[in-house]
Amino acid sequence: MKYNIALLKGDGIGPEIVDSAVRVLEKIARKYGHEFVFTPYLIGGAAIDACGEPLPKETVEGCLASDSVLLGAVGGPKWDTLPGNLRPEKALLGIRAAMGLFTNLRPAKLYPALKGECPLRADLVENGFDIMIVRELTGGIYFGERGMREGKWGEEAYDTECYSRMEIERIAKVAFETAMKRGKRVTSIDKANVLESSRLWRKIMHETAERYPEVEYSDMLVDNAAMQLVRNPAQFDVVVTSNMFGDILSDEASQITGSIGMLPSASLGETSRGLYEPIHGSAPDIAGQHKANPIATILSAGMMLLHSFGLSRENEDIVNAVDAVLNAGYRTADLAHGAPSLSTEEITDKILAQI
Ligand code: NAD
Repeated sequence: MKYNIALLKGDGIGPEIVDSAVRVLEKIARKYGHEFVFTPYLIGGAAIDACGEPLPKETVEGCLASDSVLLGAVGGPKWDTLPGNLRPEKALLGIRAAMGLFTNLRPAKLYPALKGECPLRADLVENGFDIMIVRELTGGIYFGERGMREGKWGEEAYDTECYSRMEIERIAKVAFETAMKRGKRVTSIDKANVLESSRLWRKIMHETAERYPEVEYSDMLVDNAAMQLVRNPAQFDVVVTSNMFGDILSDEASQITGSIGMLPSASLGETSRGLYEPIHGSAPDIAGQHKANPIATILSAGMMLLHSFGLSRENEDIVNAVDAVLNAGYRTADLAHGAPSLSTEEITDKILAQI
């Protein structure tokens, strides 16, 4: 099959890590007889330098005309003093909105080989963990009615959490479909003991659960979920939650893996076209030094194969290759703690050798 992939390399280490992911995709293409056509577009600071704006029209059009999009990272000190609407980060919100992406998938996986990186006590993470956080991305309190007003005690501010049936149904479907491709367990996180919006959320999650009898379903209150993530993270498979709870819990989950350079993400909408990117930023402190860990971006490319193109065997190949390289003891500088380490290109070579 032929797939058109838009590449948004961005700034800092973005170009280095995207190049590594492209090498991996090219190897997968050769092995399985696919054709990946890569078209680079400007985004972030690189776009500001070239054409005065962080998200040029050609970039949006190119992404919408592609089968899927792979992003490195944007931003850096050079552009930090620009006004808000001209900042590189503005392009991220713009491209997500233009592509209609309402789901964020964030795996938080602790590889047994990297157990030492986890800040939790060793006995709590003996067998590692592998959680997929499904976060609603375009609704809830970040987008609800807000304002300032005069209240009983003078000046006050308010934000509103509002979820429609449609918004909950579509994210529920993503969560259950994702669980069907993994461990077949879904935990829905809410605050149904207090919030009306959470009660509708829970009701619709239960309705959806009935359509997926193979999936083991449970509810959990968000305060308990925050505790359970650090008490027994291995209990979770797929976690589905609202925009704000997901924002907070996905950062908590990423921290307990202990390694920012390892975590991929996917943002999805109604179509199969998604935006895939590492969760870290552009790491300007190590840009151009061949030190960047490309694994988060390589795994993001794997997520693209699975979620946008339905190529599960190909994604598994990538995941297994990364596992094998880590198990063999190879590390980039961020994971080596001063011991000898491999460059971005060298660790990519090791991964390629496993595919
Ligand atoms: P960062 O994630 O770029 O870096 C934090 C620390 O982690 C740095 O020490 C960096 O060297 C290290 N690091 C990050 N990714 C790494 C990798 N793959 N391999 C090895 N080490 C890695 O966060 P920051 O320093 O707060 O932000 C830098 C810039 O990135 C800022 O301009 C910020 O706005 C931007 N940013 C962009 C995105 C995005 O594009 N999605 C996300 C977060 C931050």
